[in-house]
Amino acid sequence: MKKKKLGMLDRILGRVDDLDSINLNILVQRLARERALMESVFHSIQEGILVVNQDGLIEYANDSACKMINLKHTDVGTAVIWKIVPDLAKSLEMTLSNPVGKNKVISREIALYYPIYRYVHLYIVAFQEFENNQSPDKYTFILNDVTSDKVSTDKRIESEKTASIFLLAAGVAHELGNPLNSLHIHLQLISRIAGRLDDSEDVQAIKKYLEVCSSEVDRLDGITKNFLQAIRPSSPDLKETWILPLLEETLAFQSQELSDLGVKSKIDLPARSPVVLADENQLKQVFFNIIKNASEAMRDGGKLIIRIREDQEKVYIQFSDNGIGISQEDMSQIFEPYFTTKSGGSGLGMMIVQRILREHGATIGIDSQLETGTQVTLSFPQKNKRVKLLH
Ligand code: ADP
Ligand code: MG
Repeated sequence: MKKKKLGMLDRILGRVDDLDSINLNILVQRLARERALMESVFHSIQEGILVVNQDGLIEYANDSACKMINLKHTDVGTAVIWKIVPDLAKSLEMTLSNPVGKNKVISREIALYYPIYRYVHLYIVAFQEFENNQSPDKYTFILNDVTSDKVSTDKRIESEKTASIFLLAAGVAHELGNPLNSLHIHLQLISRIAGRLDDSEDVQAIKKYLEVCSSEVDRLDGITKNFLQAIRPSSPDLKETWILPLLEETLAFQSQELSDLGVKSKIDLPARSPVVLADENQLKQVFFNIIKNASEAMRDGGKLIIRIREDQEKVYIQFSDNGIGISQEDMSQIFEPYFTTKSGGSGLGMMIVQRILREHGATIGIDSQLETGTQVTLSFPQKNKRVKLLH
């Protein structure tokens, strides 16, 4: 455990019993000044900062946080976060059974409707007030208003300068489709012929090389499709969609990769599999990207658990892996295009996921702990509640 460095104040506080009234007075004034300075610093920060205890009681809030969640300064110390931001309680619901532990970081995007509509990115980090490991955990909530970002990310990508380059690249990627298709068909034809030949050593070698060629062609195909999807998201064709069959289909599609990695998967669902309004193909792509990331984060013995839950307002789909986890630093970047920590990664997967979810009025939450694992929770509005979320 890292030892906290004692500051001058701590040293004086340690000797507080020995102080006479004059020195005590000086000390109190000094503490008051330090506190006032800290308060001014915190109030000048654009991000909202809250300190919340285990029961949800708000123990501290800076000015920005008060504005964002419509909290009066006089309510600090008595207000409970779950009552003030009920949506937050819901988006954390699937995690609360699993308390935020040490080194754990939680990321959520939430919409706040009052006093004005805001789209906020929230980070929650657990800490202990005293270093003796005895005190209960407290949580720092950092609220970042991304309302304007959300609008401008799309604009940025479509901005004049990048648009022309993207257009060119998109053209090339699109053109690659036909030769790739032809390669795929011809490789299949060759392997069919090879299948009819005697099973000599040479033929076996040919079959093996053909498999390599085929899987490389598939990979190229995947890269171009991903790229096209990332730069030209199509608006979703929303239909009532059963989640379970789609998940099963995606898992079946990835079953080879999962078993190669020694990863076992399990779906845990309520008696009735929920229905959401979604574009089937886009939803499959979301599942695919999340499952792929989870499996790539795990070693042999990995377990992927997919839980489906619903309440009156939302349908939740949660993917839990016991992989390497995400550091606090990486967490703030994983939705950035081209951010990857993998040698062969594209860094586009999570950006695509986020885009698709936004178009569905759905949100993504990520909880992660290094060396322990990651939980990705998708929240879709119930189909009759969707109108409220369209903006
Ligand atoms: P890529 O998978 O190509 O790297 P993504 O956009 O899909 O790109 O993911 C970005 C980064 O987010 C990954 O490189 C990885 O560091 C991190 N990440 C995403 N999901 C997980 C997960 N389940 N476990 C650990 N890290 C993850
Ligand atoms: Mg990925």
